[in-house]
Amino acid sequence: MSAQLHTLGVAELGRALAAKSTSSVEATQALLARAKADTHGAFLVVDEDAALAAAKAADAKRGSGDAHPLLGVPIAHKDIFVTQESATTAGSKMLEGYRSPFDATVVARLKAAGAVSLGKLNCDEFAMGSANENSAYGPVRNPWDATRVPGGSSGGSAAAVAAQLVPAATGTDTGGSIRQPASFTGVTGIKPTYGVCSRFGMIAFASSLDQAGPLARSAEDCALLLSAMSGFDERDATSVQRPPQDFHAQMLQARAGATAAQPLKGLRIGLPKEFFPAALAADVSGRVRAALTEMEKLGATLVDVSLPRTELSIPVYYIIAPAEASSNLSRFDGVRYGHRAAQYGDLMDMYKKSRSEAFGPEVKRRIMIGTYVLSHGYYDAYYLQAQKLRRMIADDFQACFQQCDLIAGPVAPTVAWKLGEQGDDPVKAYLADIFTLPGSLAGLPGMSVPAGLGEGGMPVGLQLLGNYFAEGTLLHAAHALQLATDFHLQRPRA
Ligand code: GLN
Repeated sequence: MSAQLHTLGVAELGRALAAKSTSSVEATQALLARAKADTHGAFLVVDEDAALAAAKAADAKRGSGDAHPLLGVPIAHKDIFVTQESATTAGSKMLEGYRSPFDATVVARLKAAGAVSLGKLNCDEFAMGSANENSAYGPVRNPWDATRVPGGSSGGSAAAVAAQLVPAATGTDTGGSIRQPASFTGVTGIKPTYGVCSRFGMIAFASSLDQAGPLARSAEDCALLLSAMSGFDERDATSVQRPPQDFHAQMLQARAGATAAQPLKGLRIGLPKEFFPAALAADVSGRVRAALTEMEKLGATLVDVSLPRTELSIPVYYIIAPAEASSNLSRFDGVRYGHRAAQYGDLMDMYKKSRSEAFGPEVKRRIMIGTYVLSHGYYDAYYLQAQKLRRMIADDFQACFQQCDLIAGPVAPTVAWKLGEQGDDPVKAYLADIFTLPGSLAGLPGMSVPAGLGEGGMPVGLQLLGNYFAEGTLLHAAHALQLATDFHLQRPRA
């Protein structure tokens, strides 16, 4: 069996483990071998000893009757989650070699469920980016085409899942960093409602936007991971107090009035006209519409809606996110955390040199933008205006949800672009975030679901957005689509 183990998804591997047709040690060894031979730059740390010890413990637990679906299943974590076993860098020289005394809540919960971590995955520095080209540890390459980016900032997570180095990985999404790399690499990803997953131990970028979620090869696998990752945590003040959710059960729940042939009967999917502009790449709009046609065949109805402030979400996000980042990143000063310059004069000089040496250009740019928009005299003109618009963007979604249950559109305006293509122009990348930012600013749950291949044989993702806490509806719709189609089963050539 071991030759095929890397092809199994989370649910499939869980079933094989339950049936004793493989063991966690066997699966972990098979995937460790692939992770160590990784040519995509996805893994920053392969934690062989800890992984094998966890796999052994998982096999023993299964032997004594524990049957959690994740027990013994190998995964890996975006290097933005702190872990006790291996160093955490957030893709930055600032945190090179940093060891956390504790695990992030998301990491601890997956561990408690029995998932086996193989190590840490590359990401954009402090999760700032859309291409994984901002990592201090080198870019990640797209498994579909090594000359293209995998998306970002969870690019290592997406590439590792697409290249079958792990069946699933954790990621974080502040303005699209789960959905966009999932779209660029043909995997399935979900960012839950803000507050569903604890941010404790997730290195902060923009605290009012950051959310954790899984990337995997199907909606079903995402549901299994999200159930284990999520839930109230008193150590995160913005964690939502709700009973533990079984997203897998919610995903399987039949809709009222649905039939076997029409599992999505009665589901109204809103298509905001602003998500289908004339300038949208033809391959992307074609694939997205083809996937929506499949959902119509399954009983869904498509309705026209509008999110009139979609374009404004770019300036609003690129004021609020840098503002929060400039504050969050002040802790990396060479004293409390992070790199300290070897040579310096007085205290101020030590701060300046340490931060200048260790932060990359995109992080510096955002700290400067954020400090500027929060400064006296500009706060009202920029930050406060952005906050007001953020509220209006969230209200626009509520108006849409009067007419529909889910909202659909593309994840990104194009397929994955070539490495280095955006050169020195950061605004190009910012503009490509247009379809993911509105849902992030509103704090809504969103998914990227594979919708087939576009230009250059590259994957295209369908974005589905739900109302607050509608993860079950989102996963149900994506699962129904995946049972009826094989978009999610397409793989990069070895
Ligand atoms: N691309 C966006 C940015 O650069 C989103 C990043 C994210 O979601 N972490 O900020």
